[in-house]
Amino acid sequence: MQDSSFQHALRPLLDGLLANYPGPLVRWYYTPLMLPFSRHVIAAATVYDCMDELANFRFASPALGPLESQLLAIADMVFTGGFSLFDSKKDRHPHVHLMPSSVDREHFAQARSLLAIPDDMRTIPEPRIGFFGVIDERMDLSLLEHLADVHPDWSLILIGPLAKIEESDLPRRANIHYLGPKRYEQLPSYLKGWEVAIMPFAVNDSTRFISPTKTPEYLAGGRPIVSTRIADVVHQYGEREGVFIADNANTFVAACEQALAFPRESRDWLAQIDAFLLTQSWDITYRRMADLVEKQIDARRWARPLTPWSDSYDFLVVGAGFAGSVLAERMASQCNARVLLIDRRDHIGGNAFDRQDAAGILIHQYGPHIFHTNSDAIVEYLSGFTSWRSYEHRVLASVRDQLVPVPINRNTLNQLYGLSLATDAETAAWFAQRARPASGGRNAEEVVVAAVGRELYELFFQGYTRKQWGIKPSQLDGSVTARIPARTNGDNRYFQDRHQLMPANGYTALFTAMLDHPNIDVALGVEWNEVRQLVSADHVIFTGPIDEYFGHRFGHLPYRSLRFDHQTFDRETFQAVGVINYPHSSVPYTRITEYKHLTGQKASRTSISYEYPSSKGDPYYPMPTAPAQAMYQQYRALSEATAGVTIVGRLATYRYYNMDQVVGQALATFHRLTQERVERLKHKTDRPIAI
Ligand code: FAD
Ligand code: UDP
Repeated sequence: MQDSSFQHALRPLLDGLLANYPGPLVRWYYTPLMLPFSRHVIAAATVYDCMDELANFRFASPALGPLESQLLAIADMVFTGGFSLFDSKKDRHPHVHLMPSSVDREHFAQARSLLAIPDDMRTIPEPRIGFFGVIDERMDLSLLEHLADVHPDWSLILIGPLAKIEESDLPRRANIHYLGPKRYEQLPSYLKGWEVAIMPFAVNDSTRFISPTKTPEYLAGGRPIVSTRIADVVHQYGEREGVFIADNANTFVAACEQALAFPRESRDWLAQIDAFLLTQSWDITYRRMADLVEKQIDARRWARPLTPWSDSYDFLVVGAGFAGSVLAERMASQCNARVLLIDRRDHIGGNAFDRQDAAGILIHQYGPHIFHTNSDAIVEYLSGFTSWRSYEHRVLASVRDQLVPVPINRNTLNQLYGLSLATDAETAAWFAQRARPASGGRNAEEVVVAAVGRELYELFFQGYTRKQWGIKPSQLDGSVTARIPARTNGDNRYFQDRHQLMPANGYTALFTAMLDHPNIDVALGVEWNEVRQLVSADHVIFTGPIDEYFGHRFGHLPYRSLRFDHQTFDRETFQAVGVINYPHSSVPYTRITEYKHLTGQKASRTSISYEYPSSKGDPYYPMPTAPAQAMYQQYRALSEATAGVTIVGRLATYRYYNMDQVVGQALATFHRLTQERVERLKHKTDRPIAI
């Protein structure tokens, strides 16, 4: 399936199928292997419905692991078919839902009725012990053999298709009957002819995550069950009467003997099972899934219909964040250039992307983004695509059981120490008494200690910085903590820029307007590496991580990531301000954001996010350390020497840039590129080109 000729063949087939379908489309993946030929499809929702750990199966494709990571990156939600799968995926995606195998209870309950025993089983002697399902490498064939040998007086019935193993692998005994595959409608009539239903699975990697649907089906049919120690069976059914778990071939035989003696006609037992299975119906599972998908489609109303892309452009822009979107917009609107803008994520906006969550609250998917700048020109440019809401960001820090303003200012000191400092001069003198100027360099620790002293450094910066960056503050460049210098006045605002704003309808709406140009095609869920073979462009603008662009040839640049835990509460507000910082090292997250403060949205519920710093995950921050900068310089030199590509943006130029700085950098890049083009055209005018 990974063979690229397959992919080339499948993609047009899929496109042909979808060509006349009006949508909205939902991409629903049972396996990541289907991603390569379908990732270009613009969908209103993408679901990864994970029912098995396919990578552990026999003959599994080595591409499964990497493709699964890509699928997890673009999926809106992940459904897991059992508890073990849920456990293994829950930390890999923010929206993993447990959807354990359910059952059509009434269908299988027919096994308790007057159904006729099928002809091919009627003559097989009782007691019959049966299994239905795929017969493959997951079945413990020697256990089956042992069972047949110890009890020649029992008949073992196996129903289902053979997969990945040969007929010749199957144990043959007079009392083992392979009846082949049967239709779903026929299963209850077979179940009816069994005294006991079994799951003789081998316990190994291929069964570690399975959650056999047949378990509730057997029970609905009123049959006691004997199973080997499959984690999900034990977890969900192990304690139920009539379910027997065995650890080896001998105990499996003993468990079957017990199951045969089990009073399966008991009304109490059947009533207990029915009550339990009522909560496990496919109708309930379907409704839960459909609700989640419908909410997602609703939340994606912002998405403008995206044009299918062609194969030749003036510019191919990689990354639909501020850097890529500004350049795409400028090139299209000012130079009449044809632009293809791609992003591996399935949305525009890069890290500034916001969306309505399930409760209808506008949240920032990648943490709080507040627009602040001193540049009139940048505000003016962006005002072409949004109106604004005035917002002055305020942050409190949880320190010594108090919530005090940060950056540290006069109010912080008065509140924390019970002081009554009244002027800038008094406050400056207070700081000066404690400040310990650094003798050596200016690292992130020294910058703070030199300004406010060690105690405040330890209270506000040490733990936070350690958590945020995963290394000692003394190993970080001083510019990191210099972002939030202490103040002598009583200004509680987080930023002091002249413009402090939020886009009135959110960032995604701003990006949507910016990219709404007939010359711009947008393709989402698309990797640069994939598209570079398919599309020709005069020039590439790359806004992703620079080391990735150059195949990590000088090594992997370090990035810091975050995990966001988004939550909604049934109350109007959660905290007093937009962000509360938790600097202490004993708290695993760095801050909590409540979005309604930022967006001004009125609603009876509220949504927040916790930020957990992490070395794994999407790259969000370049590391401001000397070795990382040295490695970046090698990449920068290489990028300058590489024709046909321009590298721009926060990760691409490895700078701890805010949004306004990225917009500024992109605008400057636009002017430089157009100037260069104009210069070249002075010497060569034979070719009509965009700029
Ligand atoms: P990004 O937004 O990262 O966009 C790059 C895009 O490229 C991504 O969408 C990525 O998926 C795509 N991409 C990368 N590689 C590939 C590839 N190979 N193929 C296809 N697509 C690819 N700034 C502020 O001004 N104010 C704030 O309050 C603020 N808060 C922040 C909070 C957090 C938690 C973070 C992480 C950042 C914050 N920022 C803030 C910074 C802001 O997010 C960035 O400055 C800005 O978003 C950078 O834009 P960009 O276009 O350079 O990069
Ligand atoms: N910082 C800190 N304590 C705080 C807030 C910030 O130690 O309460 C340090 C920390 O190292 C952080 C840096 O200051 O990474 C810059 O903070 P800022 O809020 O500017 O970070 P960002 O907006 O990029 O998350």
